[in-house]
Amino acid sequence: MEYYSSHINKLIEQLSRLPGIGAKSAQRLAFHILNMPTDQVAQLASAITDAKANVQYCKMCYTLTDQEICPICKNPGRDHKVIMVVENTRDLAAYEKTGKFDGVYHVLHGAISPMLGIGPDDIKLKELMQRLAQEEVEEVIIATNSSLEGETTAMYISKLIKPTGIRVSRIASGVPVGGDLEYIDEVTLLRALEGRVEL
Ligand code: ZN
Repeated sequence: MEYYSSHINKLIEQLSRLPGIGAKSAQRLAFHILNMPTDQVAQLASAITDAKANVQYCKMCYTLTDQEICPICKNPGRDHKVIMVVENTRDLAAYEKTGKFDGVYHVLHGAISPMLGIGPDDIKLKELMQRLAQEEVEEVIIATNSSLEGETTAMYISKLIKPTGIRVSRIASGVPVGGDLEYIDEVTLLRALEGRVEL
């Protein structure tokens, strides 16, 4: 790509580091940005830096939020005795969109993957166990994806929790194998939640 200026190359290189953006898409986006009005580019850039500067982990559930404690954890109307464990904030949002789950969440920020070298210490699992030791919890619903990583994580978590006597369940396999929770429609998500099985 020597025929572009180094500034353009730098932009393309940064964009191509984003997930799902290949070299061609990165070029297309770069030229689109360069053709945008200056104030729009400034808005885009500041939206990125502002989000990064102001978004943090909720101190309780570890979802991404701009407050110390997220609105879900803060809500006294939610059932704090039921915790749904999800892989990421997007999965949490998918379940929130159904409006039918009134418990709280725990966001792992990943899943165990021996192949990718991601172990239990690389996700927010210690934090979950700390919560279970400190809070009065009746049920943990494991809603990790039905991928190999998601299943491995679910098994690992259930083995950790079992000795505590807290009920552990796994969402039903209404979720297609390998399916990412965020792409699944609300009806399927609800069915998976209602049909959850105890582990
Ligand atoms: Zn929270």
